[in-house]
Amino acid sequence: MSDGDRMLVLSGPSGSGKSTIVNRVIAESSVKLMKMVSATTRPPREGEVDGEAYWFLSDDEFTRRRENDEFIEYEEVFSQGYWYGTLKSELARAAENSAWAFLEIDVQGALRVMDQYPQIVSIFLTTPSEEVFEQRLRDRGTESEVVIQKRLQRARTELESAHRYRHQVCNDTLDRAVAEIIEIVVSREAELNA
Ligand code: 5GP
Repeated sequence: MSDGDRMLVLSGPSGSGKSTIVNRVIAESSVKLMKMVSATTRPPREGEVDGEAYWFLSDDEFTRRRENDEFIEYEEVFSQGYWYGTLKSELARAAENSAWAFLEIDVQGALRVMDQYPQIVSIFLTTPSEEVFEQRLRDRGTESEVVIQKRLQRARTELESAHRYRHQVCNDTLDRAVAEIIEIVVSREAELNA
């Protein structure tokens, strides 16, 4: 487990349809995948359940766990004062369930995880064009203009790191992107079992 076998990390601009893709890949893949629930200090959005969307932690609790070395990676995202991180206990949960650990995290976190786990299957999810991406972000309607602009800027910066992932998958149509990701995982599983 320590070298990253049966680990998958997916990144891409927020608004690129990541969560829908993650859910469908997990539901439809013949290889068992388990979504790693990140910890965060940001407050829950409407409908987000603790332990499902995230582990929602207080600042103090996050700090305590960080000092206790309980994270694989952690960082402050968007400079809004909110922290996000992947807990080691989540990887253990996947291993116990004989499942692949599926991480959906931002580029900075992913690059750090890729350094620690060289074999990890890494996928960068792109959108067909910036216009499509911006439209999807606006359609979601949950963020203010300032946050949308920040996310657009961030997405441009993140795109520059796309080549550092083993795979780049374009979310042109949902079905195709889901199928491509599943194919990547299934091929890797076959290699590991060969
Ligand atoms: P949101 O607040 O919209 O749910 O997520 C904001 C950003 O935090 C997204 O880009 C998401 O990928 C990133 N993120 C979520 N969980 C983690 C994590 O565990 N570690 C890191 N580094 N980023 C994360």
